Amino acid sequence: MIENWYKADEAQKWREQAGADPADQELGERVYTSRLIGQNPDLLMHGGGNTSVKLSRPDLFGTPQRVLHVKGSGWDLDSIEAPGLPGVWLDPLMELRALGHLSDFQMVNVQRANLLDSGSPNPSVETLLHAFLPHKYVDHTHATPFLVLANLPNAEEICRKIFGDRLGIVPYIMPGFGLAKKAAEVFDANPNVEGLLLLNHGHFTFGATARESYDRIVSHTNEVAAYFGMKKLTTIGRRDPATNLDALPILRGVIAEVAAQRDDAMPVFDLRNGPEVMQFFDRSDLEELSQRGMASPDHVLRTKGCPLVLRASDLAAGRAQLKAKVEAFADAYRAYFDRQAPQADEPKTLLTPDPKHAWIEGVGLLGIGANAKAASIAADLAEQNVRVRSVGEDAGGFYPIGEKDRFDCEYWSLEQAKLGKSAPPPLQGRIVMVTGGAGAIGLATAKAFARAGANILLVDRDETALEVARSDLGSWHATFACDVTDKDAPDAAMAAAVHRFGGLDILVSNAGTATSGALLELGDEEFRQAFELNFFAHKVFATRAAQVMRAQGRGGQILFNISKQSINPGRNMGAYGTPKAATLFLMRQLTLELAEHGVRVNGMNADRIRSGLLTDGFIQERAAARGVSEETYMSGNLLGREVEARHVADAFVALALMERTTGHVVTVDGGNTEAELR
Ligand code: ZN
Repeated sequence: MIENWYKADEAQKWREQAGADPADQELGERVYTSRLIGQNPDLLMHGGGNTSVKLSRPDLFGTPQRVLHVKGSGWDLDSIEAPGLPGVWLDPLMELRALGHLSDFQMVNVQRANLLDSGSPNPSVETLLHAFLPHKYVDHTHATPFLVLANLPNAEEICRKIFGDRLGIVPYIMPGFGLAKKAAEVFDANPNVEGLLLLNHGHFTFGATARESYDRIVSHTNEVAAYFGMKKLTTIGRRDPATNLDALPILRGVIAEVAAQRDDAMPVFDLRNGPEVMQFFDRSDLEELSQRGMASPDHVLRTKGCPLVLRASDLAAGRAQLKAKVEAFADAYRAYFDRQAPQADEPKTLLTPDPKHAWIEGVGLLGIGANAKAASIAADLAEQNVRVRSVGEDAGGFYPIGEKDRFDCEYWSLEQAKLGKSAPPPLQGRIVMVTGGAGAIGLATAKAFARAGANILLVDRDETALEVARSDLGSWHATFACDVTDKDAPDAAMAAAVHRFGGLDILVSNAGTATSGALLELGDEEFRQAFELNFFAHKVFATRAAQVMRAQGRGGQILFNISKQSINPGRNMGAYGTPKAATLFLMRQLTLELAEHGVRVNGMNADRIRSGLLTDGFIQERAAARGVSEETYMSGNLLGREVEARHVADAFVALALMERTTGHVVTVDGGNTEAELR
């Protein structure tokens, strides 16, 4: 059962916070109930659903005019704010209803032309549907129970059974002008309805108040759930521990190879393997169900129409078999394009024929995307679809839109127009592991890679520090806590990268610490410990990472934080410099051995960076020992300027982008003749 979260005092707060203008206050309450819908996965998931409110605002001449505020593109309902519901002059939109036809481009253009603020995002493609309904508040969702109902072969009959004539039933039409007109006609035939069932699509409600419309969304969805005996409506996002994921990096490489958009583009995976997903794979009609299509039209954009289905025997058979399966998927996809494209009104451009989600027996369901966010959205929708299929199939059948309608959505003119318009960030899809990721250099480096489009796994010892670092970095990144010198740490860290993202493309082997003391005084054990962290951990992480990269078969990179100590000894720094010198040679050795796998290996010699290694106390001490101020000490290089963690971070990214460079060390120290490589 979905709980009704509406609280009158909360709603009042949202109204008051919106200011003194009554129109802004109505919009404030609209934001509040939009969030109530968006924050409940039983009602809504990424990329679906929208809300609106109609109110009055004065035009430039002071004459009150009707305005529709409707969800804008680029905003999610769970975190929406007032600017995410752009205002459109309503009366010009209402006049459109008289037209017999309006193309999608014309529709978007006329909506934009009537924005109150020309800088607003595009109003939703379902704007006209909201406009043509007379109610003040309108809500639209794709909740799981409604998707079950909407895709039954006898959906109308069951809808009448549940709701009598409280819901209007709208036949399937692709979102846009035609659907808006049809929905308005259905409404006009019975203006007493509380909402609409859109066949093969979703649910609309409306009301005189925000509360009335929201109450209906909740109660209608509960009525449908009760009819199908669904106790728990939605479980999405569950990732259970797993040990059988060796095939994922291979699959990742194979998909990249078959898609071959750019030579080095890689997909990101999002694995879902909770008990409901795993049980679904026990069904005997799995192959047949996989070919049916998706439960709501916009799901097609994120997930393609069908999953890649892999059996345990495919995984066991290895790379060649996985490649054959992915190629067969791509062939079938091209055949679908070739069947449908000639029937379209205008020429269409084939999208990459690789799968956007996969059902893998014994492993789980994968969302597959250009980055972690896209993969996660695909996984959420794919999980919801698995649920809709299993409940629907047992309740009479799952019959979503057919191939032609699916093609019309996937190759929708407005989506096609976006193709090739924006270049992806240079490291999009790349998975980067940064050891020592919670420290100053590690976190700065992670941020620099994230800015370049990569998804990051931060590795560090302290869980709390890691969580602080990750929240700074953003939600599409992950953490793994371990001591990099532990015997099991490298394998466990690689497994974490595979479990969370599907593989690994770049290792930034950065964790290190400086043990100081004259060699004559330093204990042997302390010296060995320094080697554990500053040499052996680099070696084992690098070789394990290279094994994952070799399995992917698409190259990769290893970047070592080596330090200037590797070539320029510092007094009392022997326990740091000697393992770092060994790490420099390790870099060169791996350069030689990994080139045949396309793995580039490079290093960073940085010096005098404020960090956990060079603390303020240590800086004071070193400055005092040299009889100079801290500022003079920190800028004691040829350029005379302090070197900061961000400079090292940017140099790591620059190295990562130097596609024909391997075996190279970049120096980031502001200039120091003694520390130059020769
Ligand atoms: Zn919709």
